[in-house]
Amino acid sequence: MVEYACKKCRYITEEPTICKVCGSREFTKEWHGYVVIIDPEKSEVAKKLGVKYAGKYALIVS
Ligand SMILES: [Zn+2]
Repeated sequence: MVEYACKKCRYITEEPTICKVCGSREFTKEWHGYVVIIDPEKSEVAKKLGVKYAGKYALIVS
């Protein structure tokens, strides 16, 4: 199973068509580490990353 990360917002998905978070069409397989954001409203990590939607986000995208 290959997962892709959005180059713009780092959202991780298995379907690299259009990012449902930011609308970008640029994805990469080259990403490292991830965080799972369950409740962006209450998550300090989400605030730091600028994440507004629940999901899985890559920490490093190249
Ligand atoms: Zn995105």
